[in-house]
Amino acid sequence: MTASLSNQTIVTTAALMTQTLGNGKICYVEISASDVHHAAQFYEKVFSWRIRQCGGGRKKLTSVPWPVTFAMANPSTGGSDRSLPAAAGPLSSLARRNPATAGRRRLPSAFLLSTFSFLLQIDAMFATKGYATHGADQPLKPFSFERRDPMPRDVQIEILFCGICHTDIHFARNELAGTIYPCVPGHEIVGRVVKVGREVKKFKEGDLAAVGCLVDTCRTCPSCEEGLEQFCDEKVLTYNSPDKHTGGVTYGGYSASIVVDHDFVLRISNKLDLAATAPLLCAGITTYSPLRHWNVTKEKKVGVVGLGGLGHMAVKIANAFGAEVVLFTTSPGKTADAKRLGAHDVVLSRDEEAMKKHAKSLDFIIDTVSANHDLNAYLELLKRDGTLTLVGLPPEPAPVAVFPLILYRRSLAGSLIGGLAETQEMLDFCAERGIAADIEVIAIDKINEAYERMLKSDVKYRFVIDMATLKGGDI
Ligand code: NAP
Ligand code: ZN
Ligand code: ZN
Repeated sequence: MTASLSNQTIVTTAALMTQTLGNGKICYVEISASDVHHAAQFYEKVFSWRIRQCGGGRKKLTSVPWPVTFAMANPSTGGSDRSLPAAAGPLSSLARRNPATAGRRRLPSAFLLSTFSFLLQIDAMFATKGYATHGADQPLKPFSFERRDPMPRDVQIEILFCGICHTDIHFARNELAGTIYPCVPGHEIVGRVVKVGREVKKFKEGDLAAVGCLVDTCRTCPSCEEGLEQFCDEKVLTYNSPDKHTGGVTYGGYSASIVVDHDFVLRISNKLDLAATAPLLCAGITTYSPLRHWNVTKEKKVGVVGLGGLGHMAVKIANAFGAEVVLFTTSPGKTADAKRLGAHDVVLSRDEEAMKKHAKSLDFIIDTVSANHDLNAYLELLKRDGTLTLVGLPPEPAPVAVFPLILYRRSLAGSLIGGLAETQEMLDFCAERGIAADIEVIAIDKINEAYERMLKSDVKYRFVIDMATLKGGDI
């Protein structure tokens, strides 16, 4: 709902705010103020009103986070921040600080009639639900929380399926340090668009859409400009990152819905099974990106270490790129599957003799193992100038022998998911080639069991949560 007010008294305006916010429908209130002092006072009124409405005083307000964002326009300067007079104090500093106001400075022409105008946006929230963990040693359980109503550039997605990545386990159990609880994991998200903001052109209600590991970045640093958003120092991860809209933390895909800036929403094909598409959003891109970066093509011999969620996608994609693929596994029972998935040879990595047969023969190895293991054994398998790229995240530092690196100019490298354009390229490639994950679909209340099975390497080869089981569930 939008209300334009001209030279209203503060009291009247605040009353209107109370009324419109009270029914939970408000999106924007535009206020014209005849002088800056007036507007600053208004701001204070709104602020105190929010404290009262949140019911619990300041404590509650900080957890609902900063609901108010400002932009200001001066008709004579076209609305630059420099037009803010010093008296605006907190208003101007907020407008500069909050990147959410970027792009909102072009105000409707009627609005520019007053000498100074302020656009005040109240980010309304809606209730949703999901599964969260409240501590490193706690199971995941039902959790109710709020998401922002879509803003002009946002897409609201009803989540239909969400894959379970081993990174979710690392975060849920604080194995990478820095987990903020409650934590709602999940970054392999596919679903249907239910609402779009007025500036969104590439999606409409009813479209299929997907979200991976990123929901925002700075958009201006060299990595962002090169389409390598995953390396942006200000990236906002889909979960467990500071959420500049709510002031809290981002919550991921083990939930009924998500609201994401349209630049971070990806298109998916209806040619592939929807549930089996979800794992492409992390397992797919995390393996596609390094295979592309290190030029894996048909003349190359490629090793894949570990046949889990990432590993089985690496086998499929390296095979699709035409490479000769050797799978290294600790699980004898996975040999037949590995061959079906596209491996030309399968090696039990605990069999030293079998490992030696591949010494100095591989151009490239992608290591997807989630636990501590010996990297040196794999360095020995690389040809001169070969590269061992780590994508798995063992929690402990790994000892590396320098000699095998020096002796044949081998490289040890790492790789992190992929940028947005490359993720879209991977999704399009997979749709065209009929590549999706091999999955076990589970109900959301089986999630703790699924984690235990993954830790025993007992999944073929990705768990995917059917989110319909959340909606029907008792929460
Ligand atoms: P996953 O499905 O659990 O697969 C991991 C595989 O590693 C297992 O299936 C197993 O394969 C092997 N493995 C497990 N424990 C092992 C051990 N002690 N020694 C040797 N091999 C072992 O996990 P995932 O979802 O594919 O994720 C794998 C890792 O990648 C995780 O650490 C995750 O956090 C990380 N990750 C990184 C990125 C990135 O951007 N770099 C993105 C996503 C995930 P076998 O049974 O075949 O031996
Ligand atoms: Zn992941
Ligand atoms: Zn950036």
